[in-house]
Amino acid sequence: MAPMEIERRRLCPCCAAALVRRELGGIPRLACPRAECGFVFWDNPVPVVAAIAMTPAGRMVLARNAEWPPGKFGLVTGFLEPGEGPEEGMVREVAEELCVSGRIRAFQGLYPFHRNNQLLIVYQVDLAGEPSAGEELAEVRCLPPERVRPWRRGTGPAVHDWLTARGHTPRWIDEEV
Ligand SMILES: [Zn+2]
Repeated sequence: MAPMEIERRRLCPCCAAALVRRELGGIPRLACPRAECGFVFWDNPVPVVAAIAMTPAGRMVLARNAEWPPGKFGLVTGFLEPGEGPEEGMVREVAEELCVSGRIRAFQGLYPFHRNNQLLIVYQVDLAGEPSAGEELAEVRCLPPERVRPWRRGTGPAVHDWLTARGHTPRWIDEEV
């Protein structure tokens, strides 16, 4: 459970009463104290799609979010719209963020991202052309897979798995050379 997330939601979204801590199902939750309201902030993980996107030349696309500091890169990720399936959402996010269409090659796997209370749904995506940074991105970088050094949290373990499955021996970004 992400404590920051709970702190931001101290008022009941239904009746605006102050939420109180209550144990439900053996786990401490924030709940509305008004019995006639009954709201419980379950804080369930949110699904997020993420793309291991490859250019036609076989380079892996790393993206820097506009809100991230210089030098910090990750995969293209996005939330799903209501009624949208994960593959559909993935293709849309790739088009929006990388300004090029992509096709899903395979499902990579599910990766929990506890710090952000998210469940990452990771796909391998083939791009139809060279990417450029869409509105939400500050920068994109296309690297030969052997030069990619995965990061330990978020989408990094999916990148590590992908590289390992293709015979690379990736070093984590914080590992000594
Ligand atoms: Zn309430």
